[in-house]
Amino acid sequence: MNEPTQHLSGTAPAPSAPDDPLAGPTMTVRVCDRGSGRDYVGVTIRTVTISAHCPTCGGPRGAAAGHRFCEDGAWYAVDRWDNPCGHIDYYSAVLAEAAARDAVAAERAAAAEETRARLVAAIAATSRIIAQSPAAPSSLAIEAAGLHPQLKLYFHNNADAVTEFAEHFGGTASARPHTDRPDSSIYTSATGELDGVRYEAWSLTAPQADEAGTETDR
Ligand SMILES: [Zn+2]
Repeated sequence: MNEPTQHLSGTAPAPSAPDDPLAGPTMTVRVCDRGSGRDYVGVTIRTVTISAHCPTCGGPRGAAAGHRFCEDGAWYAVDRWDNPCGHIDYYSAVLAEAAARDAVAAERAAAAEETRARLVAAIAATSRIIAQSPAAPSSLAIEAAGLHPQLKLYFHNNADAVTEFAEHFGGTASARPHTDRPDSSIYTSATGELDGVRYEAWSLTAPQADEAGTETDR
């Protein structure tokens, strides 16, 4: 194998965060929401999901137990718990923690949705390539790492196909020796965008401008 390392580069997948705010066990509890202002706005009971661990020390939170209370003539049921570590969870902080979790979850859902839409676009671009490319690629891959999937097209021993592809679909083609050796094969590549999807097409050919195209070191 003597493939160029070039074509393997791309968007590296994001490393998973060491302290993922959504990781770990959770608990679902009923808490009081009294609004964020100073005025009395009554009480609204909210059921929220929070970490099962204390945000201050990381120790386990206590087990929640139901608690009923009366306010303004109405009865409400909430959950209360005592943390073994002694840190107190105020409802306002619990609500903020739950809201932060929801925001992270919504952000991830939106990113996943966007990735799906981009993959669909990449498949559409793939269909167009198959229908319209001057030469059929030897292989065509959708690389989906990261938020921006891109197409990788390989043309076996056919630098002209790469150039023609770039001319046909719009892109920039270039050629250079694949290695520093004097007898190095030539790496021809083209990059561009097809219906909003990035592509890279490439081929390896023999160093001599041999019309017949003898051999590649694929
Ligand atoms: Zn604690």
